[in-house]
Amino acid sequence: MSPDDLSQLDKERLWHPFTPMGDWCAPDHDPVVIAGGEGAWLRDTRGNRYLDGNSSIWTNIHGHRHPAIDAAIREQLDRIAHCSGLGLTNEPAIRLADALVGKFPPGSLTRVFYSDDGSTAIECACKMALQYWQLTGQPERRVFAAFDRAYHGDTAGAASLGGIGTFHGRFRRTGYETIHLADPDALDRLPDEVRNTLAAVAIEPLIQGAAGMRLWPAGLLRRLREWCDAHGILLICDEVLTGFGRTGTLFACEQEAVVPDFLALAKGLTGGYLPLAATLTTERVFEAFLGPVGERKTFYYGHSYYGNPLGCAAALASLGVFDSDQTLLHLRSNRVVLESALNRHFGGHRHVGEIRQLGLIAGIDVVSDRETGETFPWEALTGARICAAARRHGLMTRPILDTLVFMPPLCVSAAEIEAGVAALAAGLADVLG
Ligand SMILES: *Cc1c(COP(=O)(O)O)cnc(C)c1O
Repeated sequence: MSPDDLSQLDKERLWHPFTPMGDWCAPDHDPVVIAGGEGAWLRDTRGNRYLDGNSSIWTNIHGHRHPAIDAAIREQLDRIAHCSGLGLTNEPAIRLADALVGKFPPGSLTRVFYSDDGSTAIECACKMALQYWQLTGQPERRVFAAFDRAYHGDTAGAASLGGIGTFHGRFRRTGYETIHLADPDALDRLPDEVRNTLAAVAIEPLIQGAAGMRLWPAGLLRRLREWCDAHGILLICDEVLTGFGRTGTLFACEQEAVVPDFLALAKGLTGGYLPLAATLTTERVFEAFLGPVGERKTFYYGHSYYGNPLGCAAALASLGVFDSDQTLLHLRSNRVVLESALNRHFGGHRHVGEIRQLGLIAGIDVVSDRETGETFPWEALTGARICAAARRHGLMTRPILDTLVFMPPLCVSAAEIEAGVAALAAGLADVLG
């Protein structure tokens, strides 16, 4: 099909996520149709090339078409693409579970439950937590605590933990009973009778992604773990965004020597190739679900593509690439390259407020006046217009309101980081002068 025919048919048939579809379908909007990718680059049907500046919505880790991951998927395809995880098992799923568990201190996280995406990984953690308390004689523990501006996914339960008004407000009365708090210190102020109903606290460790790449203060995750331990409450760490090197270490929790009771992984698990998620938990939680069938302790929950062999093969290969390509070592120098590029292009800019960075994740707040911190009205879609302009300079990314996001795949070179940040700055200049 020609690029024009594809655009037209897309507008007639698709409904895109998080997208005002009236604008998308408008005659003057020409959707970018991606035709290919290689390394940190995307290519569209019209032959334009773009640096993948948000890692294809925070999923891609080692670049597109990485030879080792491509080969692992092809090899698995010659065996089988999918088989059920209900009553059956398969080698890639077994080996991946062992490899993931091996990334944590021995005897800490020991069990892996697969699902399909970040939202289902969170649903699974929540349901396990609720059932755990039912099975251990504290059924009154059925409330979750989560944080303002949190994002844990869009299925009903995961969305009830979310704290972003635009996404979650409309569905507030569905899902789990949840209390939203400004920060972990607010937990200390909960009355006993509320605290005693808590099943678990959920947090995005170190950085809240969808909130606009907001960093938690250092030490906060550690304190939250200690608070949960002191009160016997389970901790859910949502590493759907932060997992697999994004923050500078393989997992964000490592940076504060925290092991949660539930760890949710998705986006980067397969290197950003296939939809696969995992919820890791402890032997203590797992054992509460054991007993004769008649005792009804079984976790009756799951999805059709549990332990998908293609996804698990991709994930195993992606973990292998961390070793073969020395990804985390490469990241250490790239982190500094990014910091210096951000300072050079945006530091002191009259339309730039705060600049935040963690690992290879950067968030740049665009403001109407740096001195007063005054922002543009959100309806002006300033961030979106800047990112659209940056495309013409060879960078593909998506803002969060007026926070510009730059988080390329971990395989980027120093020159690509420099070019990407320069393109974003050029987009800013095009829109705001
Ligand atoms: C993206 C994201 C999710 C949801 O993952 P999906 O795969 O989109 O369902 C959950 N938590 C965090 C922190 C995320 O960034």
